[in-house]
Amino acid sequence: MEKILFLAHTQDDGTLPNVAREALAAAVDLTQKIPGSSLSVGLIGQEAKPAADAVAACGAARFLAVTGTEFAASRYASDVAAVEALVSEAQATLIVAPATIRFSRALPGAAQRLQGRIETHVSGLDVVDGAPQIQRWYYRQRMVATLARSQRPWFLVVDAGVFPPWQGAPGAAALDNVAVALPENCTRTRVVGIQSPAVKTQTIRPDAEVLFVAGAGWTKKQADGQLHIKEAEGLILGFLQQCNASLGSSKSLVDQSVEGEAVLSFMSHLNQVGQTGSTPRHPKGLATCCHGEEPHAVGWRFINERRAINTDPNCGWAQGKADVLYVADAFQVMAKVNDLLGG
Ligand SMILES: Cc1cc2nc3c(=O)[nH]c(=O)nc-3n(C[C@H](O)[C@H](O)[C@H](O)COP(=O)(O)OP(=O)(O)OC[C@H]3O[C@@H](n4cnc5c(N)ncnc54)[C@H](O)[C@@H]3O)c2cc1C
Repeated sequence: MEKILFLAHTQDDGTLPNVAREALAAAVDLTQKIPGSSLSVGLIGQEAKPAADAVAACGAARFLAVTGTEFAASRYASDVAAVEALVSEAQATLIVAPATIRFSRALPGAAQRLQGRIETHVSGLDVVDGAPQIQRWYYRQRMVATLARSQRPWFLVVDAGVFPPWQGAPGAAALDNVAVALPENCTRTRVVGIQSPAVKTQTIRPDAEVLFVAGAGWTKKQADGQLHIKEAEGLILGFLQQCNASLGSSKSLVDQSVEGEAVLSFMSHLNQVGQTGSTPRHPKGLATCCHGEEPHAVGWRFINERRAINTDPNCGWAQGKADVLYVADAFQVMAKVNDLLGG
């Protein structure tokens, strides 16, 4: 009989991130499918009551929390201690958690201490003959594997965008606080603040509805024989800000900075999508001034609805890689789109 623990940490505002609600949906689904299993919720944060109340109707038998200022911010030692305490208290055999940066640091250590096993980047869950199985990709999404394990506890760290977020009415959860004896070495690391890039430069947004990909065409000479870098920057940033879209890039565009060519100031290699870049998950994607060659387009594997704007009707997107190809000048199209969006 599996004892399933949905594990999450709160955000600065005390709420659960979207990816945590997605992991909760996965945990609820597993509980319904595994005969005789039970569900508990384990929360970590400065305060956990608002987050617990928000998911009170998820069907969990217990709501456990480790709270306090020591658990407000991401810190390996205190997070591992909190996870250990919650898993022990719930006597959990399966732990379903979201792939946040904070958990990606702490959960492997917690699994080790509890003599369990961990699967990261879980992209699918199933139950076969009453036993859980997970799916994950290998070799940059070229191979998908289905895995089962007998070792418990088994941590399943679920990637963002795989499950629809859990939806349900808020309620009043009866929260049990779990005490944690912090190890001495915890005091060696103090979180004094967080430095993040200016909003303008924070262009990678995994939760965004739309992925906007910019290709090298934005920095090439246009029909008038001139470069229009500043105009390109304005159009791209304007769209990102108005749609809260995430920014992706082709390899050619991000490579231009090392090759000494004209570049978009806010673009870095972290934005690169493709075989040697990232494989983001977004419901929709729009590629602009990007040819859509195979090494780029493989990074779109998890983009459900794909559109592209290219002046070339024979570009890669036209070869079955996009649902819609607009054969048009992206400068003109994006100026009009931004206008329509009210910018
Ligand atoms: C081993 C290997 C790994 C690779 N990995 C990656 C990877 O991870 N990601 C990646 O992206 N690439 C990768 N590449 C490179 C990839 O093959 C392409 O070279 C690259 O994606 C091309 O980038 P691009 O489409 O932006 O540029 P280009 O090929 O220069 O295309 C620019 C496009 O912009 C269009 N255009 C120009 N002006 C306009 C306008 N005003 N309006 C509309 N369209 C316009 C042009 O018609 C053209 O199609 C890899 C290559 C190799 C060999």
